[in-house]
Order: sequence, then C-alpha cells, then structure tokens
Amino acid sequence: MSIFIPNNETKLYGLLGKTLSHSISPSLHNTGFRDLDINALYLMLECKEKEYLEDYIQSLKNLNFGGWNVTIPYKEAIIPYLNGFSSLARDAGAVNTVLNRRGRLTGYNTDVIGFQRQIEEAGFVVKDKKAVVIGAGGAARAVIAALIQLNLAEVIIVNRSKANAEELVEIFKEKESKTEFSAAALKESEYKELLKGADLIVNTTPVGMYSDKSQKKLVINPEYLNENQFVVDLIYNPLKTELLKEAEKKGAQIGNGLPTLIYQAEAAFKLWTKEMPKKRKWKEIAEKAVREMVVED
Ligand code: NAP
Repeated sequence: MSIFIPNNETKLYGLLGKTLSHSISPSLHNTGFRDLDINALYLMLECKEKEYLEDYIQSLKNLNFGGWNVTIPYKEAIIPYLNGFSSLARDAGAVNTVLNRRGRLTGYNTDVIGFQRQIEEAGFVVKDKKAVVIGAGGAARAVIAALIQLNLAEVIIVNRSKANAEELVEIFKEKESKTEFSAAALKESEYKELLKGADLIVNTTPVGMYSDKSQKKLVINPEYLNENQFVVDLIYNPLKTELLKEAEKKGAQIGNGLPTLIYQAEAAFKLWTKEMPKKRKWKEIAEKAVREMVVED
C-alpha cells in the first residue's frame, strides 16, 4: 500500500462545522482522491464558536483551500461571507458546499441534489403529492427545496418550535407559488391528521440518532403511518432508526439518510475535482463507518 505524502501542490478541502468527530466525509473524499490519484487532502475543520467563523473562513482562504463542506451549525451562518450562490443554495437558504475560485467563494447546496436523487432512485413520484417534513433546520430547507423542484403539491412543516416552522413557511411562500405550505407544532394533537394524509414523511431532526442526547427514539407517534406512505429518515446512524422500524411494521416504504449523504458528497467532489468517485466503494466505506459508530456509542 503506498502512502500519500502531501506537498506544496496539495489541494486542500475539508468539513467546516462545530463538532465533527463522527463524520464520514473525510474517509469518502480522501479515498476518492487516492483512487483517482488526485493530489488533495480533506480535513476536519472544527470552528467551535460562531464568533470565530469569519476569521476561520479568512484563514481557509489564506491557506488557499479549494473548497469545503459546511455542516451544523453553519449552513446558514456562512451565507454573509460568500460572494455568490447556486440557484439551489439560494432556494434552500442554506449552503453545504463552498467552492473557492481565487478567493471568490461560491455557495452550493448539494444536500438538495442528494435528497432529490435518493427520492427519484427510490421510485417515488413527488409530483402532486403531499409531504410532512419534520424539523425546520438546514436539512429541512434542503429537503423542501428538493421537493419543490420535483413539483410537490403541498408541504407541511412540523417542528418542535412552531415559530421556526412558520418562519420557514414564510420564506418558501415568498419564493414558490405552485406549492402550498403550512406549519404545525410537534404535538400529537396537531400532527395526527396531517401524518395520516401525507404521501411522504421526512424526518430531518436528530431524534433517533445514536449521538442524540435527548434519549428520545421516536420523533412522532408512528401509529398514524400507513402502507401507502414513503417514510425517509435523514439519519444514517443507525441505518434503521426506530422511526423506520415502526414505519416498516406499518408496511410503508422506508429510506435512511445514507443515499443522501453519499450523493451530496459525490456532487461536492465533482464540483471541486470535475471527476466522479467510485460509487460502490463509497457506499461500502459509509456503511462500514456507520457500523463502527455503533460500537463507539
Ligand atoms: P439543525 O439546522 O440544527 O435543525 C435541527 C432541527 O431539528 C430543528 O428543526 C430542531 O427544532 C429539531 N430538533 C432538534 N432536536 C430536537 C428534539 N430533541 N426534538 C424535536 N426536534 C428537535 O440541523 P440540520 O442541519 O437540519 O440537521 C438535522 C439532522 O439531519 C441531523 O441529524 C443531521 O445529521 C441530518 N442530516 C443528514 C443529512 C444526510 O446527508 N443524510 C444531511 C443533512 C442533515 P427547533 O427548531 O425547535 O430547534
């Protein structure tokens, strides 16, 4: 096995976020670089406090990073420091990938592309359907932007803080007139009928994740799910959350967050290198990393 030794030509990329110890992205991108013989490195870029974000970004520019991914909690916070956006990032109001062209930073949202691809590959036709999206953070923005592109008829945002769901509804209403938007609180009495009437249900909250401190395993009461629905949980650790297990028992089609994770990474890789990584290998790496996370937890 040959060892990669960086030199002064090595292009730098990374993942910018607050807490990154569980991220799979470095394994995916570094394997992609080595497989394709690209002189590049993908690093963990932990910025512990939001007040240092601007200086941190300036430092990445000074070090001539070719680009970086952005994760919790900076997907929206990074926007003021960018020079331009892709239309999907603008639609989502969130950025998960940055491209640095000679100091000019452009924001992209490859989560939108990743989720869209997952939904299409699952064979679910979004056009004229009704979705309940649980959560109102960065991931919810990407999911909703993706669904709008696929001509969804109606989306209901169900969130712990109803005010955040309402805010998101207003943002999307301003941008998009063909889709109907509404908000509800994450209370059984409010979401019960909404869940029953939905074709697609997407959990974008961290509830059910191994590292989630809340200890709560189910974000909603699964009693209202049925066999005509497609239930997606953006969580990929564990690969089958309690929500997906319960949805499966009800006969619903289910999907975890791994395809979106891999496809968003693939889209970022292509944006930076203009090349495509080996898809099967990335899937194997991601699944192996998730299995190792289970042991750590
Ligand atoms: P975020 O911006 O911090 O938003 C988190 C959302 O979850 C908020 O709406 C928050 O509600 C809600 N929430 C948090 N803790 C909760 C709890 N204990 N009970 C109920 N609701 C809770 O985070 P994000 O970027 O959207 O990411 C959310 C999740 O999606 C994470 O688990 C992340 O790993 C996953 N994700 C996966 C992929 C993928 O590729 N598969 C991509 C992106 C994100 P409030 O508004 O009330 O605070």
